[in-house]
Amino acid sequence: MAITKRQAADLAKQTFDYAPAPEAIDHVRIQPRYGLFIGGKMVEPHSKKRFPTINPATEQKLSEVAEADAIDVGKAVSAAGTAFTSWSRMAPSRRARYLFRISRLIQERARELAVVETMDGGKPIKESRDVDIPLSAAHFFYYAGWADKLEWAFPNRRPRPLGVAGQVIPWNFPLLMLAWKIAPALAAGNTVVLKPAETTPLSALLFAEICQQAELPAGVVNIITGAGKTGSLLVSHPGVKKVAFTGSTEVGKLIQRSLAGSGKRLTLELGGKAANIVFEDAPLDQAVEGIVNGIYFNQGHVCCAGSRLLVQESIAKPLLEKLKQRLSTLRLGDPLDKNTDIGAINSKAQLEKIQALVESGIEEGAEIYQPECKLPERGYWFPPTIFTNVSQSYRIAREEIFGPVLSVLTFRTPAEAVEKANNTPYGLSAGVWTDKGSRILWMAERMRAGVVWANTFNRFDPTSPFGGYKESGYGREGGVHGLLPYLELV
Ligand code: NAP
Ligand code: MG
Repeated sequence: MAITKRQAADLAKQTFDYAPAPEAIDHVRIQPRYGLFIGGKMVEPHSKKRFPTINPATEQKLSEVAEADAIDVGKAVSAAGTAFTSWSRMAPSRRARYLFRISRLIQERARELAVVETMDGGKPIKESRDVDIPLSAAHFFYYAGWADKLEWAFPNRRPRPLGVAGQVIPWNFPLLMLAWKIAPALAAGNTVVLKPAETTPLSALLFAEICQQAELPAGVVNIITGAGKTGSLLVSHPGVKKVAFTGSTEVGKLIQRSLAGSGKRLTLELGGKAANIVFEDAPLDQAVEGIVNGIYFNQGHVCCAGSRLLVQESIAKPLLEKLKQRLSTLRLGDPLDKNTDIGAINSKAQLEKIQALVESGIEEGAEIYQPECKLPERGYWFPPTIFTNVSQSYRIAREEIFGPVLSVLTFRTPAEAVEKANNTPYGLSAGVWTDKGSRILWMAERMRAGVVWANTFNRFDPTSPFGGYKESGYGREGGVHGLLPYLELV
């Protein structure tokens, strides 16, 4: 029976509750305790120390992982050093085969990896399932293709691997950051020791199993767990020839200082405070989706998050209305539920940092908006938040919040947009929303940002280089550019 227009309008106004749709976890085996992955085997840590990793959505302990001390780090670097001799001399097409195999195994174990990533870090399962894990597999697949074509990548040069790479990664995209680090290093003929973040070590330990399954020669990949101390022991170890770090600008600067004069090669992928710029001719509904994806994806724990919305004054009012309306439809809660849009904040410490910066925004005079949103009783949560009335000098407009918090500023002319967008110590990414191709190019030329997205945001592809300017670091990961930090060109 057809419904009347009136009934249709009433239906459109209703909000529907979603029935719970939890992803099953019975196929996942998380061991009660883990050792260190050194020389192809899981070994007991010399330190004899372990620390818990928890699920931030429930505060329940998932497992205990080892804390590597100086002797453990030394063993891992030495295993990687021994493996380097044969790995670097292996026929490149054979090296490629191992990378292809790893990529296939990540695909085969995708569901398990996605669940572990979500349980250990708090991100929604639809993100780990549809973004983190497929992109990680794609990264290995892409660099597998380069392994036997390095001479074509750098014509008229003889590319040579560097040796042992010491790699330290953060907690926001644990497996993906591992892939960004390990895939190009191995393709170029180096061996690695990688330290995942303290709060999200489990997918890296599963990856260790994948290396075993792929029959990767012992010592080519070593995974050591621990806190910042372990990271600093790794990067300063004399056996490490190349350091790759992704994390905060603060720690990046520390590492840069400590390596000065050591002759070690260094790439730094650090923080950001990206401008997402919406012009009056932009398709507003599409822009709203891009803004939401830009700042609420992964609870805003994204280095290239569009955390500063720059909106042209003439459309500020209708755009903000649409944005607030859209925010009220975001579902916050159990990260393992397939309908969840916003999961848990990664740790108590990160939640406290977000809360403190939000407090500062209120104190400095910005106006806060949060949709009605019930937070679960256990775990770490923060509602999606918008600040309007923000001045460029406020901390919420300058500092990286790394949470689901958007600061809105306005502009009148394109020149003012450029000025405000570049008025930051960072330079990792930017977004431009406009109907005009010429304006996109005009803006992209003037943005001091490693990536500029046009009429989209937070898009990643292994073939495309990623990295920053200024305090966002240096060096590029992804694409042919991503091979360069792992090679010496003779
Ligand atoms: P972080 O505190 O700098 O930690 C990053 C990694 O470094 C972790 O594994 C950490 O261990 C380790 N670490 C801490 N102190 C160290 C030291 N003195 N020497 C060596 N390693 C040390 O950063 P985070 O808070 O985990 O991550 C968030 C930051 O990463 C944000 O600023 C974000 O913008 C940035 N990020 C950048 C990119 C990019 O591509 N540009 C991508 C993702 C994230 P523990 O975990 O045990 O502390
Ligand atoms: Mg955890």
